[in-house]
Amino acid sequence: MKIPNTFGMDVKARLFIEYYSLDELRQVLREHKGEPMLHIGQGSNLLFTKDYDGVILHSGMARARFIDDETVEAQNGLRLDDLIAQLTDMAYCGMEKLSLIPGEVGASAVQNVGAYGVEAKDVIERVYTIDIETLEERIFTNEECRFGYRDSIFKHELKGKYIVTSVVYKVKPGEASATREEIIQTRMAKLPTVGEVGSAGSFFMNPFVSEEKANELLKIYPDMPNFPSPSGVKIPAAWLIEQCGWKGKTLGGAQVWHKQPLVIVNANHATPDDIIALADAVSKSVKDKFNIDIHPEVNYI
Ligand SMILES: Cc1cc2nc3c(=O)[nH]c(=O)nc-3n(C[C@H](O)[C@H](O)[C@H](O)COP(=O)(O)OP(=O)(O)OC[C@H]3O[C@@H](n4cnc5c(N)ncnc54)[C@H](O)[C@@H]3O)c2cc1C
Repeated sequence: MKIPNTFGMDVKARLFIEYYSLDELRQVLREHKGEPMLHIGQGSNLLFTKDYDGVILHSGMARARFIDDETVEAQNGLRLDDLIAQLTDMAYCGMEKLSLIPGEVGASAVQNVGAYGVEAKDVIERVYTIDIETLEERIFTNEECRFGYRDSIFKHELKGKYIVTSVVYKVKPGEASATREEIIQTRMAKLPTVGEVGSAGSFFMNPFVSEEKANELLKIYPDMPNFPSPSGVKIPAAWLIEQCGWKGKTLGGAQVWHKQPLVIVNANHATPDDIIALADAVSKSVKDKFNIDIHPEVNYI
């Protein structure tokens, strides 16, 4: 069966299973124990490099409920933007800056999604999971998730070991519709629309360099945007890529998006190899010109 993915890669899984309750999920995990397995959301941060010889799991659970006036629990399969739209309509705020980020609630905790200065970690209180081996529930506090830049414990030590089943977010009463609308307009002007142009959003993560390296570069490129932080000086990867002349350039069916060079798009029936070849060429140019390594944010499967 075809695997849903926003890049529009034509890839199939040996089995694609959608479940609608925790009991069903446990049943599937029992039946397919030991088989290669991958839980996906909307497939909006994935580059499938070939067919998947295993079980792809997807949640059909997509409900949200208020626990109290300050916390809402959302099931893993609910689209994050649908949740934010519902909260905004009900005059709750806190998550509006994450508006229009593709993908589902489960992945928001795995990826620690972020935009416009807000990350999922700022609003996540706790994360409910199921241990794939023991089928037992485990609840992770925000701290236990060890969130970092587009990062969490679920991408490292616990990769492939837990399925996020629901996420509890902190919210507060407040008007957010103007901010949400502004963010939607800004994103639509700059980013490819899911369903119209295949992509996985930002292909690369922004690199952090030492202060010394940033000062060295600023002597040559005084206009270079740079953002000092406790983990080093962040340089926007989009700027580095644009300086290397990649904006709008095509390789095979893949293209560096003309409005935002951090995004690689499936411009014309791109194969996974086209995307990989373009991504490799872009990161090699950045390395050659600036001696900076840029790494994919997109998960290669
Ligand atoms: C046009 C566009 C714009 C984007 N803009 C942004 C942005 O502004 N900020 C940002 O942070 N990201 C952005 N992204 C990337 C993407 O939206 C996020 O990474 C999102 O969290 C992926 O969600 P998903 O449901 O599609 O997960 P998938 O891509 O399907 O999966 C991502 C990872 O999470 C794992 N996973 C998924 N669900 C579960 C679960 N329930 N339990 C355990 N593991 C799970 C998968 O195995 C995989 O490793 C953008 C993508 C696109 C296409």
